[in-house]
Amino acid sequence: MALRRIRLEGDPILRKKSRPIDEINDRIQVLLDDMVETMRDAEGVGLAAPQVGVLRRAVVIDVGEGPIKIINPEIIDEEGTKIDIEGCLSVPNKAGKVERPERVKIKYINEDGEEVILEGEGLLAKAICHEIDHLDGILYTDKVIEYVDLTAEEDEETLEEEEES
Ligand code: ZN
Repeated sequence: MALRRIRLEGDPILRKKSRPIDEINDRIQVLLDDMVETMRDAEGVGLAAPQVGVLRRAVVIDVGEGPIKIINPEIIDEEGTKIDIEGCLSVPNKAGKVERPERVKIKYINEDGEEVILEGEGLLAKAICHEIDHLDGILYTDKVIEYVDLTAEEDEETLEEEEES
């Protein structure tokens, strides 16, 4: 496994649409492993392939229950709305409030080529939506309602809960 360089806001690759993966070969397995390692190193809860310069529909998410490798995700159902604070490894030192569905259900292919249905709520729902947006060239900054000052002392509790993906 190897760390990959995380692309930052302003890099045109973050604005492109990623292509579906039609064959899970060794290169894709290595990509997914590297993405997990890169996400962990950066202490993020999610990472999408375009963030490491690869325009393929792959994301990794870890909300504290171990890494999930997600290929060709599609949202098949969503429910409710929730406004919460988000950050992004491609947009360092910034965080803002974004409205997302409270619960989502997705269909994806795992690294063994099997179709999986995953339901997520709270942080997992937020991470899923944030990462799928990356596959379509969308950043959370496109949807932000209000930026949050990360240096304000009264926001200490919020800071602890803030997660970057
Ligand atoms: Zn992000």
